[in-house]
Amino acid sequence: MIAADWGRMAEEAKSCIDAGAKALHIDVMDGLFVPNFAMGTDLVAAIRKAVPKAVLDVHLMIYSPETYIERFVQMGADAITFHLEATEEVDYTIDYIRKCGKSPGLAIKPETSVTLILKYLAKVDTVLIMTVEPGFGGQAFMPEMLEKVKFLREQIKANHLKTTIQVDGGITLETGRECIKAGANNLVSGSYFFKQKNRNDAVKQFKELCERESVR
Ligand code: ZN
Repeated sequence: MIAADWGRMAEEAKSCIDAGAKALHIDVMDGLFVPNFAMGTDLVAAIRKAVPKAVLDVHLMIYSPETYIERFVQMGADAITFHLEATEEVDYTIDYIRKCGKSPGLAIKPETSVTLILKYLAKVDTVLIMTVEPGFGGQAFMPEMLEKVKFLREQIKANHLKTTIQVDGGITLETGRECIKAGANNLVSGSYFFKQKNRNDAVKQFKELCERESVR
């Protein structure tokens, strides 16, 4: 939603859901963990009000995420993903999100080694591989992140897990295809999606892509 027209956020949220989007991904930035500010708790609440039944997937790019879990839950988040690099309290934060009845996710920035996330694979519902340096929308996809996705897919398969692999940053139909082929099964598309004239077609194309290219 960071790439939506913020002046018309309620309409934008409705339009994505009407187009068939599975969830709305909301990027929260604190200006410290990433060099930008975006989308606080009140905006999450406004989106929740606009689309009461939609799945709100909140991606926290903030330090000490454990401090804010409760607020985001109160404002209507369904899934909460935070960064491995942002806290010493990774286990506690995962458990806390779970205790709130929400779906926990763990994210890593491009420079972070994928092996650091392995011990949490069975504990979270989603791992998020950042495919750009987080902080701004509209950046170019980093193809070297595909190796991380492939590695995680192998690990998930070998351990008979159901963890979702989400990719976020520079996702278009083309880069999305590469990610799905590498083993991702959840695509976050921002700038590309909001630039499309027909959102229904865009969602349909992404869904077809996931069906066709999925690694099982
Ligand atoms: Zn995100």
